[in-house]
Amino acid sequence: MPRRYTTDAIVLSRFDYGEADRILTLITPGGGKIKAIAKGIRRQKSRIGGSLEPFAELQLLLARGRTFDIVSQVSIVSPWLRLRDDLVSFGTASYLAELVSGTVEERHPSEGLYLLLKRAYEILDAGMAPGRVARWFEMHLADELGVRPEVDRCAECDRMLESTERYRWWPASGGIVCERCPGPSHTLAGLSLEGLKLLKAYQRQDIEALAALRLAESTEREVEAAMRDFIRHALEREARSLAFLDEVRHEAVPGVAAPR
Ligand SMILES: [Zn+2]
Repeated sequence: MPRRYTTDAIVLSRFDYGEADRILTLITPGGGKIKAIAKGIRRQKSRIGGSLEPFAELQLLLARGRTFDIVSQVSIVSPWLRLRDDLVSFGTASYLAELVSGTVEERHPSEGLYLLLKRAYEILDAGMAPGRVARWFEMHLADELGVRPEVDRCAECDRMLESTERYRWWPASGGIVCERCPGPSHTLAGLSLEGLKLLKAYQRQDIEALAALRLAESTEREVEAAMRDFIRHALEREARSLAFLDEVRHEAVPGVAAPR
């Protein structure tokens, strides 16, 4: 590996360090997750100060360091300024960044995840409903991680479900579970037919088709809860940024309780 290298990168998170430095967590296509330090960035005369905001796609010239790589040049590839204008869209961008940060390995090629995040930020920036971007992303993230939710066959016995059959949504098992297999009760794990159809749509339809779907609010919420459960099981933890997202959404729509 050369000591200096150029890479595309998306800033996932950052924190201030020392007097004037900042540590960045980046995702790169060829090197996975990388921690880099931008020295002197918080000084007023810093050349690169304004360009290292989260959720922008950058091209960086980095020098390898022992603990952190060192940022020496930055140019902005896609600023995605609009996704930062709105708190719900910003909160969604943070949530997606946290999911990526929690799954991508350090210094390990991750082009699929990189392109997935990039596409999600593009469509969020273009104004697609943040909830639909998040569901589309969760479903494809599960694919990238090799844990695609089962929505056609029983996750326990692998039997193709009949269209009239009852089923339950059981993330711990990997998706839907048929009536013959043991599992949680319908009260605990019920999923409506509309909800199941929407999960299938997130697996199979392209973004344009998903953006155009006319859906009942209750179906979107049901699928949101279902996918949150699924992602929590797949990652074995709750995303911290969801608390912020729920709070800003609650404020954005007074009187509508944020889903759990
Ligand atoms: Zn079964």
